[in-house]
Amino acid sequence: MNELPVVIAPDALPALIDYLYSRGIARVNLVADGNTWAALGERAARALAAAGVEPRPLLLAGAEVTPDEPTVVELLLAAGRQQRPYLAVGSGVITDVTRFASYCTGNDFISLPTAPSVDAYTATASSLILRGLKQSVYSQAPVAVFADLDTLCAAPQAMIAAGFGDVVAKFTSVADWKLAALLWDGPYDDGVAQRMAAARDRCMAQVDAVGAAEPAGIHSLIDALIEAGLCMLAFGGSQPAGQSEHYISHYLEMKLVREGRKPVLHGAKTGMATVIVARYYQQIRQMSRDEAARRLAASPRPDRQAEIMRIRHAYGDLTAALIVEQAPFLDWSEADYARLQQRILERWPEVQAVAAEVPSPDALTDLLERAGGTADARALGLGDEEMALAEEYGHYVRNRFTVLKLSRVLGLLV
Ligand SMILES: [Zn+2]
Repeated sequence: MNELPVVIAPDALPALIDYLYSRGIARVNLVADGNTWAALGERAARALAAAGVEPRPLLLAGAEVTPDEPTVVELLLAAGRQQRPYLAVGSGVITDVTRFASYCTGNDFISLPTAPSVDAYTATASSLILRGLKQSVYSQAPVAVFADLDTLCAAPQAMIAAGFGDVVAKFTSVADWKLAALLWDGPYDDGVAQRMAAARDRCMAQVDAVGAAEPAGIHSLIDALIEAGLCMLAFGGSQPAGQSEHYISHYLEMKLVREGRKPVLHGAKTGMATVIVARYYQQIRQMSRDEAARRLAASPRPDRQAEIMRIRHAYGDLTAALIVEQAPFLDWSEADYARLQQRILERWPEVQAVAAEVPSPDALTDLLERAGGTADARALGLGDEEMALAEEYGHYVRNRFTVLKLSRVLGLLV
């Protein structure tokens, strides 16, 4: 397959040095901030220098680095025009900024994660905040990943719990992916879906070791996070790893940015949102085909103008872009809608089989809590009202068919 070298080891630096030697690399740009320099960057720089590789440290200023225009320019100015690979020593933000800067300057980058907090290490896109808006900007995947287990086990507990939340999200993302294939002819790859589910389940089996930050648990966690990125690379889209639970999270994230509020870790939001999405799967699992038929008969095609009003109410300035994004649903003809309803009934047993793959909301809550996280939005600083908005309007963020779209057609989601 697409495999790039991934090393997960108690001390991953010797493998990094071997890799650089084998490719004749004698100079690197080492990107870190104050925290990640202390966690791993300084040790890596010393080990590289001792091995005859020149590590040019590029340290980003500030207590909390934001992936926005000033940070990108700061890094590009510090890096200059010298051609050399970049080492991203950090978690999501540093990786995304380094991914983008290395891509812009025509250099490779190597990922050295400092926390098992997110599945973005092996992604191709950078998540950047441009003019205040969170955007996914195409750049490049790393050429190799060296995950230093000693560093990852010492990461802040909240970041470990967040990473686990992003793996819990793979229950609903994989199920949504299957639903889209079943009901919407969405592109699907069963091999990749099984691979994602297997990595997720290995991590779930280690939940208590994750909660205790033991090496076996953290190993399975970083493995699942890296696998998620590799599955997205193999499939060529985010379907295996991010669906309706991520849309609820994106809605909240954009709201927090718009309102200038303190960010909430990505995986904390997606894990919590997975429990919300699982409630819809639970209702579908418990619904007879007769009831589904009654509900479909009572559920008219959403009116285009009314839908646009809803999007405007929830998204304001972003409405024009979302009208384009939602075209496949806004442009539903009566015939299209009738065909979809008929298909839902014809495939109801398969729909219920997919729903049965998603654990109950209680079981997911228990997993999150055992890993040190939470399913309680208030504990993350999110209010009841904005959670209701996120649940109701999150599905407009992307044009995919997910359980939230199905729930609307069934009249479960207003
Ligand atoms: Zn995610």
